[in-house]
Amino acid sequence: MKKLIIAIDGPAGAGKSTVAQILAHRLRYNYIDTGAMYRAITWKVMKTNVNNDIIAIENIAKNIKIQLDYVDGKTNVFVDGFNVTEEIRNPAISRLVSEIAQIRAIRDAMLQLQRHMATAGGVVMDGRDIGTHVLPNADVKVFLTASIKERADRRWRELTEKGFIVNREELEKEIADRDKADSEREFAPLIQASDAILIDTTTLSIEEAVTAILKNCEERSSLV
Ligand code: C5P
Repeated sequence: MKKLIIAIDGPAGAGKSTVAQILAHRLRYNYIDTGAMYRAITWKVMKTNVNNDIIAIENIAKNIKIQLDYVDGKTNVFVDGFNVTEEIRNPAISRLVSEIAQIRAIRDAMLQLQRHMATAGGVVMDGRDIGTHVLPNADVKVFLTASIKERADRRWRELTEKGFIVNREELEKEIADRDKADSEREFAPLIQASDAILIDTTTLSIEEAVTAILKNCEERSSLV
């Protein structure tokens, strides 16, 4: 089977990374979590205390070294050689990331890096603008979504299991705010590509979503 490029977009908590990682594992592809890249740059912005200094933020975008190592079903994220895999999931980063991801210089830097990472093919990339902007010629495009209630429940369970104390209602509001910021931003907003298949995981199991995408991959690879 030809090595495909698979783009998965959708709002927070729709199950993108879980589904993408299973797909990558089954197809023996590389998995690229672009949300982790925006989180990584947000981590650096917070650490360097640049606040709203746009020149300093642009410098970070130009010089940051982000490395994603996908090994045994887990992505380790490095910023300038530091392992930030756990820290970038911190709720404080989740609250700031959408604001940072709107900055044009940051999006341009990530776009270059993400396109470069996908050049060899055999890749599953997830994010917000992959099918529309980063990889508009992807072989398979998926828009994965779920109700806001279901997505907030999932995130709450995930964070609680990790030991974070989070208020379920506040979390739902934060996710809704992040969706709004991601969908309404000027450059590369979160939107379903016209040629993406829509999968709603509100009442669908992970396995059902994976099966639907694999079926699409088989159809596509018989055409390419
Ligand atoms: O996927 P995750 O929830 O970790 O993404 C964190 C944030 O990174 C998103 O809410 C969005 O603001 C930003 N992002 C983006 N474009 C992508 C991936 C993520 O703007 N391709």
